[in-house]
Amino acid sequence: MTDQNHKQVWAKCLEIIKDNLGESRYSTWFKPIEVISLEDKTLTLGIPSEFFKEYIEEHFLSLLSSVLQREIGPDAKLYYQVNTVQDASVTYPQKTYRDLSNPTIPAPVNPDEVDSRVAPGLRRMEVNPNLNPNYTFENFIQGECNLLGRSAGVQISEKPGNNAFNPLFLFGGPGLGKTHLAQAIGIGIKEKHPEKVVLYVSANKFQTQYVDAVKFKNKLNDFLHFYQSIDVLILDDVQEFAEKPGTQNAFFHIFNHLHMSGKQLILTCDRPPVELQGLEARLLSRFKWGLTAELTKPDYKTRLAILKAKCSREGIALSEDVLHYLASAITSNVRELEGSLISLMANATLMHRPITVELARTLTGALVPTEEKEELTMDTINEKVCQYFGLTSETFLSASRKREISQARQIAMYLGRQYTEQSLAEIGASLGGKTHATVLHSCKTVRDLMHTDDLFRTYVRDIEKSLHLNTNN
Ligand code: ADP
Ligand code: MG
Repeated sequence: MTDQNHKQVWAKCLEIIKDNLGESRYSTWFKPIEVISLEDKTLTLGIPSEFFKEYIEEHFLSLLSSVLQREIGPDAKLYYQVNTVQDASVTYPQKTYRDLSNPTIPAPVNPDEVDSRVAPGLRRMEVNPNLNPNYTFENFIQGECNLLGRSAGVQISEKPGNNAFNPLFLFGGPGLGKTHLAQAIGIGIKEKHPEKVVLYVSANKFQTQYVDAVKFKNKLNDFLHFYQSIDVLILDDVQEFAEKPGTQNAFFHIFNHLHMSGKQLILTCDRPPVELQGLEARLLSRFKWGLTAELTKPDYKTRLAILKAKCSREGIALSEDVLHYLASAITSNVRELEGSLISLMANATLMHRPITVELARTLTGALVPTEEKEELTMDTINEKVCQYFGLTSETFLSASRKREISQARQIAMYLGRQYTEQSLAEIGASLGGKTHATVLHSCKTVRDLMHTDDLFRTYVRDIEKSLHLNTNN
């Protein structure tokens, strides 16, 4: 028998809920819920999205159960119907049962949690893709340092979404071209597929938008719907999501929705997924579904090519000597390299001086004082680590699995990764042929231990000091 009073019963429940949660949280999370029916003490609620369901489960379940048991009776039952179509007029397709007597067990997930249908009549919106027109493939010089990421990017721009590189996860240190490459893919897609909705957003901006959406009442649904309607989502600096579970959760749902609908995701990050701390495992595992590509520091040849390209674009003529000097002196990253060129130009123009190697030397000396320092090698690191722990280099490089020895090796790998320009494979090779996965794993272990073990952190800091490294992180 259908109880015609379902609206009244639910209204009473809402009153209590509102009392408990306050106006703002009530409006955000409970107002959008629609009561569908009440039959034989079974209440069915229409929930706007899977994300809502999870949030309610996580935050308000005990309140909801006690209110329902009070208003309907101790044997009250609850069903969620999650609306997976972005149109309020479509009926809720899938039901899941929530066992109120057992609130600690999570409610089952809808099998068709994500729906790729586009609601009929929903107008496609105009979205400003937020792309910098200078960040094209043409302007992104190819080199060993970006070969994998760049060629995957070119292929993605031909065929976004349905390819083996979804998501594309680009990682690398600052100033190595992550933002440029990610945007180049966006620009490439827009050129070849103008109908695709492309959006570039920094993780920070996404986070702010999410926080605002939660704060300003019913905006959350709009926020989720907006992101779920994008064809190509470029999210820059995803490490910013660390320790922000709410944002991660929202992004997780958007990621799932887009990925399952064959939409393209491009993510950038300042470190590889294994070294990302403070991110949920379910999100991290998704980052590895597609292709992970590292951008490394450019070699001399690439640095020279970048300088030449930049000069010709800006209409500047520099002598080969000056170009050679800059390309050899500035090895840290492309941003510094460009910076030196600009400062050189500015000085020469302002002071009416010719651009000579001398001038370049004076200016870059002021810009990058550390460049004079001798480059740190794995040999030096390994030697200092051995000295510090009183190990001979035979023991250090032996296959021994004794904890002190393997920890010493891990510290050496970590320092190599932090402070040298060696690739993972080169670092591994200097330690008796460790694989690149071992090196990555060791770096993570060291980072973890530095967080949890004071003595261990002291070891690492001491060795850093003995290497004359400036550490303020
Ligand atoms: P990241 O996001 O990794 O910190 P950016 O993408 O902002 O680095 O790059 C820093 C600067 O270096 C930008 O001006 C970018 O255009 C330039 N740049 C980086 N890599 C290249 C490259 N391979 N070719 C040309 N310019 C590059
Ligand atoms: Mg960037």
